[in-house]
Amino acid sequence: MTIALGIPTLAGKRASPGPRPDGATELRDSWGRVATDLRISLTDRCNLRCTYCMPAEGLPFAPSDQLMQADEIARLAAVAVRDLGVRQVRFTGGEPLLRKDLVDVIARVAALGPRPEISLTTNAIGLASRAQALADAGLDRINVSLDTVHAATFLAVTRRPFLARVLDGIDAAARAGLTPIKINAVLLRGVNDDQAVELLEWCLARGHQLRFIEQMPLDADHSWERDTMVTAAEIRASLDESFALVPTTTPRDGAPAELFDVYSGGEVRGQVGIIASVTESFCSDCRRTRLTSEGAVRSCLFSHAEVDLLGPLRAGASDSTLAELWREAMWAKPSGHGLDAGSFATDSFVQPERTMSAIGG
Ligand code: SF4
Repeated sequence: MTIALGIPTLAGKRASPGPRPDGATELRDSWGRVATDLRISLTDRCNLRCTYCMPAEGLPFAPSDQLMQADEIARLAAVAVRDLGVRQVRFTGGEPLLRKDLVDVIARVAALGPRPEISLTTNAIGLASRAQALADAGLDRINVSLDTVHAATFLAVTRRPFLARVLDGIDAAARAGLTPIKINAVLLRGVNDDQAVELLEWCLARGHQLRFIEQMPLDADHSWERDTMVTAAEIRASLDESFALVPTTTPRDGAPAELFDVYSGGEVRGQVGIIASVTESFCSDCRRTRLTSEGAVRSCLFSHAEVDLLGPLRAGASDSTLAELWREAMWAKPSGHGLDAGSFATDSFVQPERTMSAIGG
């Protein structure tokens, strides 16, 4: 038996958010939310070709001189932490491990005051040889994208035979103390949706926290369909066959995942999370702000607008100017992703141009 708690969405759209209150220093939006969780995409490149993300041939990737360099990342992170109230920094991609200067980037952000919590979302390929150096540089914990523990399914989903390297990476992260390790899994109908129980069992046995993420319409092929997406309700129903899921009492504090304590044989075995981005939106308590690898602010994963910071930074803008641009960008944040049932009925949902591979989780 599972109880879904779901958080109500913010009402409606507005032509313009109105003037921003004077003197506000934090990253407040016109709906009253304050962003304290910064996601920084370090690259749009990846060494996997997941079917729900990008085509087999890949995408036209940004030239390296258009990407933020280590000192530019550190400077923008400093502005965010010192002047804008950011307390968590998550590095994402594409695949952030493809950045050769990742250890340097993390060390620079770990040296900031106040020190933010630093995490990484990765596919863990190549992590086996870098986990300790990343931990020594200041990385606190990681989220690993892993949709299956079967080599054949892994190949079918990612188009690469790299499962063993991912599993080695996860083990190395555990040895380096980058815990709790969170595993992010997307279920695809007819591909791995029958492996949910097995994947949870695999994570519970290793003390990893599994989170199932509803597939979102951010793929480069624009082939996402609402009807073929595996919903949170279906995921709960499949887990219910083998486990008892009880919503945790831990406050959610704007976190995307709804967490459940997992019981089997009357014993609590660990936790599982469900990120129901599409069917049970959590936008009303969103605390995220994002920087693309080209140094633009995205107020929302599904934004259709971005505000460039890298250009002004390279043109000599001061930290206070950069901070003000960032505040303005967040003030105009949309109420949510607009993926509610109504938008499908009226076909009003418009997928953003930038794909997930160039935004990061
Ligand atoms: S869709 Fe946008 S507003 Fe909603 S939770 Fe994600 S980033 Fe926040």
